[in-house]
Amino acid sequence: MAVILKGAPVVAAMNEANAARCAALAARGITPTLAVVRMGERPDDLSYERGVITRCGKVGVTVKQYLLPADAAQDELLAVLAEVNADPSIHGCLLFRPLPKQFDDRTIRAALAPEKDIDGITDGSLAGVFTNTAIGYPPCTAQACLEILKHYNIPLSGRRAVVVGRSLVVGKPAAMMLDRENATVTLCNSRTQNLPSLCREADIVVVAMGKMGYIGADCLREGQVVVDVGIHVNEEGKLCGDVRFAEAEPVVEAITPVPGGVGTVTTSVLVGHVVDAAEKAAAAV
Ligand code: NAP
Repeated sequence: MAVILKGAPVVAAMNEANAARCAALAARGITPTLAVVRMGERPDDLSYERGVITRCGKVGVTVKQYLLPADAAQDELLAVLAEVNADPSIHGCLLFRPLPKQFDDRTIRAALAPEKDIDGITDGSLAGVFTNTAIGYPPCTAQACLEILKHYNIPLSGRRAVVVGRSLVVGKPAAMMLDRENATVTLCNSRTQNLPSLCREADIVVVAMGKMGYIGADCLREGQVVVDVGIHVNEEGKLCGDVRFAEAEPVVEAITPVPGGVGTVTTSVLVGHVVDAAEKAAAAV
């Protein structure tokens, strides 16, 4: 029976820390503020936005919404981002992506001020992850994987880690952050040969491939820690991950659940970034 690495205790600890930092800022007359920029009404965006607003409210972060129709022109979105960048009362910006097809993703990402990029979407933030410098912020989901491993005191230094999936949103930054913790990291993609044996060699397996139930007992062995980033809705309408949990759980040492794992922690990471951005802005005055 594996230890279940639930997100809830990680979230509780992060909420407590974020609330204390917000209170310290409030005592100085500063309210950490997040701009949420959304185009259209995609159900996934709306659900994530609700979660963010709730989590922000719990710790003392204010949310300001900027809503555009899904058929808005690129100039309209650029104008919103310019307003967000110029407003000193706004400390961070969550821009929902993927953007509708009339937008040029690179142009839009480049338009956001790096110091307000609390979701790790600008090239500056990604450079910060790779160079280990404090430019912008790492993508929240990748950081959530690390927050869980650290919260549960999973040793990383000197251990073998496999990351399955190399997207800029999850896999690649997660691999870099594991490398920073002195794990020896193998980053896998859809052309990787012998994935099951590579996974079995690892002490830590982070799965972010976007394929429901792809990783099963053939890829796993006893003693491993598994972080499942995938989120899917199965035929029964239930949330599940990239890992076949029922198969993995009796085999491995520890595993994150879906739901209730990485996804839960992601929002708290985002809120923490807003608080951090507010602290940095206050220090710069
Ligand atoms: P993505 O952009 O589709 O990337 C998937 C990655 O997996 C790609 O790098 C792909 O390789 C790789 N891959 C696909 N099949 C593979 C295979 N058979 N063997 C090895 N690698 C394979 O997905 P993403 O945005 O990173 O998201 C991954 C999952 O995490 C999704 O289920 C998504 O819903 C979930 N997610 C969760 C959260 C959260 O908060 N929990 C946040 C974001 C995403 P190639 O590069 O070669 O195509």
